[in-house]
Amino acid sequence: MNVVAIVPAAGSGVRMQHACKKPYIELEGQTILGHTLSALNQFESISSIIIAVSPGDEPQCRQQVLSALNVRPEISIITGGERRQDSVANALAVLPAACDVVLIHDGARPFVTAEIIEGTVSAAFKYGAATAAVPVKDTIMRLGSADLTGPEPLERDQLYAIQTPQAFHQDVIVAAHVHARSTSAQATDDASLVRHMGLPVAIVSGSYENIKITTAGDLVYAAAILKARRAATKR
Ligand code: C5P
Repeated sequence: MNVVAIVPAAGSGVRMQHACKKPYIELEGQTILGHTLSALNQFESISSIIIAVSPGDEPQCRQQVLSALNVRPEISIITGGERRQDSVANALAVLPAACDVVLIHDGARPFVTAEIIEGTVSAAFKYGAATAAVPVKDTIMRLGSADLTGPEPLERDQLYAIQTPQAFHQDVIVAAHVHARSTSAQATDDASLVRHMGLPVAIVSGSYENIKITTAGDLVYAAAILKARRAATKR
């Protein structure tokens, strides 16, 4: 199977409030984006990786991330867009013609495992579209209108936190982005764009460690995950 991976890493990182742009923050000697690419490198079916970075960040990505890495897939760097969805669309525009599955994985999720990638790709190959997800741990309420009823509680048993990786047949994800453009649909992930087009998306078990590093507190958690993993491999 030939899998092409798209890694959106062109976010502004405003929620992080860090001097360094998020993909280039170092965790135990390697950038966040470097950790993510190393994780993808474990999955042998990935033949190439397209990384979307912020305009002007291409040299930094090459020098600070890629030069320090030894990854097997062919890597290309492209310029991302204003929204995540635009960054992914830019990558879809340069997709190689022949690929069985397109895997999309946030540059800011460095702790994805080969098992989660494998599960997501297999489900996408079978069903057309799949996403990693975990049951939510908190109670979630939807903020209602400004009336006196307050927020509306949602049934926790039915709620999942949607993660990446997400994977799709090439024609499904390309069609979902064409449909989003023509209907002005907006979404913070690609599975939502496929659902918006009316197609089903399979759910695959993600992991609570597969965090998207977003705020400064996530860096503390990320360091703890890395430390625990290093200790486990030494045992
Ligand atoms: O901002 P959000 O949490 O949705 O970001 C998820 C991923 O999408 C991050 O890896 C981020 O760098 C990427 N992104 C992007 N282009 C944007 C916004 C976010 O590639 N314009």
